[in-house]
Amino acid sequence: MLRWARAAELLSETGRWPQRVRQRHDEAVQINRWRVKRVVNWVNLTTPLGLLIARLGQAAVGEGERGLLVGVGYRLRFPVAPAFTVGNVIISPHDPDWLAERPRLLKHEERHTWQYLACIGLPMLPLYGLAALWSYARCGQPGLHNPFEQLAGLADGGYVKDGSAQPSRDPQD
Ligand SMILES: [Zn+2]
Repeated sequence: MLRWARAAELLSETGRWPQRVRQRHDEAVQINRWRVKRVVNWVNLTTPLGLLIARLGQAAVGEGERGLLVGVGYRLRFPVAPAFTVGNVIISPHDPDWLAERPRLLKHEERHTWQYLACIGLPMLPLYGLAALWSYARCGQPGLHNPFEQLAGLADGGYVKDGSAQPSRDPQD
């Protein structure tokens, strides 16, 4: 009986090991991915451009998680958005507490940082502009039919309410 219990224990341990190893592997891959993105978005000049825009808007920039840079207190009137992203830099006119209370918006903006990587950097800006025009022509709104915003999550970005295809009245929140 004891031997059987020990065998079961061993089995469950060995059963758990591969899972733990896989989990560690997945975490390592995740870390490598965002580290690669941080470097590539520097080299493709989108992060330096983001820092320049943040500086022009007098935003205070600090380091966020996963290699992100977060600029708060942005003062220029363009673009009109609760937050926007250039390279690895997320910029907002709001203060850090306001942003911290909106993890979904930050996730949305973080997805845009991956889009800069996928677009090989600066080409993202004209492509995004075209996508916004396309969306505007279709529905009078630059985000709803914009593939970049759709991929980043319309509800997370505040473009629609959860479970609705209708534009949110208040994209600021
Ligand atoms: Zn967005």
